[in-house]
Amino acid sequence: MRNGKTALVTGAGGFIGHHLIKYLIGQGYVVRGADIKHPEYEETAADEFAIADLRVPEQCLRVTKGIDEVYHLAADMGGIGYISAFHAGITLNNTLINVHTLQAARHHGVKRFMFSSSACVYPQYLQKDPDVVPLREEDAFPADPEEGYGLEKLYTEKLCQYFTEDWNFATRVVRFHNVYGPLGTYDGGREKAPAALSRKIASLHDGDELMIWGDGRQTRSFMYVDDCVEGIHRIMRSDYSAPLNLGTDELVTVDELVDIIAEIAGKSVKKCHDTSKPQGVRGRNSDNSRLRTVLGWEPKTSLRQGLIPTYRWIEQRVAAELGFSGIAAE
Ligand code: NAD
Repeated sequence: MRNGKTALVTGAGGFIGHHLIKYLIGQGYVVRGADIKHPEYEETAADEFAIADLRVPEQCLRVTKGIDEVYHLAADMGGIGYISAFHAGITLNNTLINVHTLQAARHHGVKRFMFSSSACVYPQYLQKDPDVVPLREEDAFPADPEEGYGLEKLYTEKLCQYFTEDWNFATRVVRFHNVYGPLGTYDGGREKAPAALSRKIASLHDGDELMIWGDGRQTRSFMYVDDCVEGIHRIMRSDYSAPLNLGTDELVTVDELVDIIAEIAGKSVKKCHDTSKPQGVRGRNSDNSRLRTVLGWEPKTSLRQGLIPTYRWIEQRVAAELGFSGIAAE
């Protein structure tokens, strides 16, 4: 049953956008997706899919026309290796995408606009210890964000705030903390830790060496994509416009993440650490107090629960690429 509302999901060819479209269709929206590319692993569920380069103002105007709610996920992004290597391109592309999409949405009188920000906005001086204090929304200032990618996210958060304050344009700002799940990028250089480690473990034989970036003691929390898309929609429905964390507070070291994946795979791996590779901040966790207050809800899927379908999907892809099946049974 359709609810009479139209939604635009930008970044619809990407990981979270693709899952969000399925969720919004389930909620009764008529959905337009926009991206420079189609989804890689599965056909889109969108009612309409526009190929558009959102760095270009005219293309932003084209895709935001006739839309009630914009879920803005398009970004030039990737894992730590990628975002620490390409500061100029990432900052330039994301500045153009965000400014022009926001401006076009306002031009067309869009009723609500959600910006997907990131835990990368948080100051690096608060993330120097693996035993990190969970990050609260107000900790973002005084600012010292991740170079390039994080700095640009923080700037666009403020731009959303100014659009709301000065022009009464309704915005929502969501700070995602490491999202993972099936149908996410798992190779090619833009993949993040859970997908990269799942791919490596799926390709290994029992007892093989596994190369891990950093010393393995860096800590993170990870959110399953189903929780992420439900949280996005709940935040859009709320009347809260300041930045909100959306993540879990189940903190693990990267070595512990490897142990969970190896156990799901039914393999033992010999961990080796390459400390010459980028590893990002030492520790990062989400403080969900405000999310609980605003929504009375928070992500529920445990890391182990979410990694089972994620690993199985990547394992199948790797097995198909290697030209055989039943890799887990070896
Ligand atoms: P993704 O890379 O899978 O999806 C982003 C999509 O944006 C891609 O399909 C890409 O083609 C598209 N895009 C890039 N440049 C474009 C352009 N010029 N015009 C149109 N489309 C363009 O990333 P994701 O994991 O789905 O992330 C979605 C959003 O969430 C991003 O804004 C990202 O910064 C944010 N985020 C994600 C995570 C995470 O863990 N996945 C964490 C924090 C923040």
